[in-house]
Amino acid sequence: MDIAEIYDKFDQIGCLTFATIDKDTPQTRIAHLFAHDHEGLYFRTMITKPFYEQLKQAGKVSICGMFPKTSVSHDEQGMPYFAPGYTIRATGDAKEISLEQLKEKAAANQMFMLGVKDIERYPAMTTFCLHSAWGEVYDFDFEMAHRSHKLLRTGFCFGGKYIPFRGVRITEECIACGECLEKCSFKAIYQQGERYIIDHAKCDVCGDCYTICPAGAIEIVMDDPKK
Ligand code: SF4
Ligand code: SF4
Repeated sequence: MDIAEIYDKFDQIGCLTFATIDKDTPQTRIAHLFAHDHEGLYFRTMITKPFYEQLKQAGKVSICGMFPKTSVSHDEQGMPYFAPGYTIRATGDAKEISLEQLKEKAAANQMFMLGVKDIERYPAMTTFCLHSAWGEVYDFDFEMAHRSHKLLRTGFCFGGKYIPFRGVRITEECIACGECLEKCSFKAIYQQGERYIIDHAKCDVCGDCYTICPAGAIEIVMDDPKK
């Protein structure tokens, strides 16, 4: 996915959750993206807000949202039901953009004009660019109404970041009993000869295979995204 496609996914949602670090405490608020270009994704805040202070101090932000519905309904058994849709998140480094830079961008791309007008109307407003990030789209159809598996993950990265692997995988300890394949309700495990393999694009990391494996052959992997 390129930056324009990532932006479109976020833009379809509109209001997004933005997380920052306030010294050692996470903080969230609702905001939105207003533009994108080859350098990244753009959003605004005011220099008087804690959001601004946290962005300046840590230079980090994580953004997420859900489409098309965020409400949860329940079936006859009281279990949660989610209409098919997607969640998307992006985590990375953000830098402040000056009004002059924003005007330059607006001269070439009308999308940035909104930011210029807003700053002219509210002088304490400023712009940030998420310029280096990784993330994923988690496309879900839990009832499998439109396909044979519940989810499809699409990872993305830009600005020098890579997509870390964070999930479960089957190791050499596997004794090929097939219990994980039976158990996986996400249809994320397949067999190739004697080997059992997890398709990470379809895996929810729900842990069902991990807890049922009699050989302890499934490992949890948490790649460090900072590497
Ligand atoms: S449950 Fe464990 S041992 Fe059995 S096939 Fe799956 S990974 Fe291999
Ligand atoms: S973690 Fe869950 S979704 Fe992923 S392979 Fe295991 S059982 Fe399937």
